[in-house]
Amino acid sequence: MKLIIVGGGASGLMAAIAAARTMKHSEDITLIESGAKPGKKILNTGNGHCNMTNERALPMAYFSDDAKLLDDVMARFSYRDTLDFFNEIGIPAISRDGYYYPKNREAAAVRDALVSEVQRLGVRVVSNSKIIKAEKNPDCFVLTAESGREFRADRVILTTGGMAAPKTGSDGSGYNLAMDLGHSIEQPLPGLVALTAAEFWVKNLAGVRLEGTVTLVVDGIRRRSQQGEIQLTDYGISGIPIFQLSGDAVDALSAGKKVAIQLNFWDNKTETDILFALKMRCKARPDWESGELLRGVVPNKCIPTLLNLAKIDLHVPCKTITVSSLTKLAKNLSQLTFTINGAKDFESAQITRGGVPLAEIDRNLQSKITPGLYFAGELLNVDGPCGGYNLQWAWTSGHEAGLAAAK
Ligand SMILES: Cc1cc2nc3c(=O)[nH]c(=O)nc-3n(C[C@H](O)[C@H](O)[C@H](O)COP(=O)(O)OP(=O)(O)OC[C@H]3O[C@@H](n4cnc5c(N)ncnc54)[C@H](O)[C@@H]3O)c2cc1C
Repeated sequence: MKLIIVGGGASGLMAAIAAARTMKHSEDITLIESGAKPGKKILNTGNGHCNMTNERALPMAYFSDDAKLLDDVMARFSYRDTLDFFNEIGIPAISRDGYYYPKNREAAAVRDALVSEVQRLGVRVVSNSKIIKAEKNPDCFVLTAESGREFRADRVILTTGGMAAPKTGSDGSGYNLAMDLGHSIEQPLPGLVALTAAEFWVKNLAGVRLEGTVTLVVDGIRRRSQQGEIQLTDYGISGIPIFQLSGDAVDALSAGKKVAIQLNFWDNKTETDILFALKMRCKARPDWESGELLRGVVPNKCIPTLLNLAKIDLHVPCKTITVSSLTKLAKNLSQLTFTINGAKDFESAQITRGGVPLAEIDRNLQSKITPGLYFAGELLNVDGPCGGYNLQWAWTSGHEAGLAAAK
């Protein structure tokens, strides 16, 4: 039985290892990768540290079109199995509040350990070979590479990823292969991505990083909040808390809804508490210039914009600021509103939402449409939050597809 895995990312490497540990003749397994070496994206994960899994990576944390199937698959290879697996191939992990990283904090160690294990098991790796066409004949699958070279196999696992960070190889070509073999594709959208804002003043805040709380507001209703390091940019707003809200924001925008992000600069205090604090500061230092009122509270670069939005001149003494201006300032410090008009593109997105629907595969990740075809990783319509969840899905689905396809 010949097995081909198309795509040497996290899920493809895991699928190759699981299959090679199950099949008698691992030389019958071929891993085809369009890039020069498998696992390029892994190097970029977790800012080069690779947040490889998370103790909260449970099915309910993910979005998919079939929660029951996701439950079933994830129960068979959990974050604990991931930790055991990596420990066994020489990568012990450390936890930072439930977020797991390789002990040496180097993503390259994760990639290298996976590639070494694939080689040790005797899997044939064909690099620099992009598959552009897939067919199912009565007796086998025929995969055609860009070069014209043909590969034949009895079973195929597609692990080509989505469209996020296309420079790492995941350029969306896998969707065509899935469609060649009879599958549909839920519209791919950028996920875990920065959001763009309409306000002219965002440019003035570019480069600022601050600890804050952001709240997603859809059609005027506050949906949910996230806390952490926020990055203000010349196009809008970014950072992990924004990534976590970006999926709902993009969905709401595509449904034609009005989307805003409100930023709280001051320990998530209410407008009333902030107004009180500002009044106290004015009372204590009536001769301070207005700019000094916010010194130490918000990043310096934000002060002129915040004062300007509250119609307060930069250099007037605090004692001259009117209550209505102070109230406006307090409001903006508790909920500065960014009108969201879009998201950044796949180049800067961490993941792709959408892909091959789970409705079209069975519990072994095998196609219900084309028997002998399996899927794993981001190519499937499953996505999780930032923080080790998406790699966990790649490990889980890669492992389960590899096992099943090898049997
Ligand atoms: C900057 C960044 C940081 C991230 N950090 C984290 C993190 O810390 N923790 C976390 O959980 N997740 C993180 N993610 C997400 C995570 O990396 C992905 O969800 C995961 O790598 C998906 O694995 P995959 O195997 O499905 O796809 P990919 O890793 O994208 O692999 C697909 C592979 O298939 C190859 N390929 C594509 N098409 C073809 C073709 N036609 N023929 C042959 N080969 C093909 C590609 O070259 C690629 O090597 C991050 C993503 C990015 C972009």
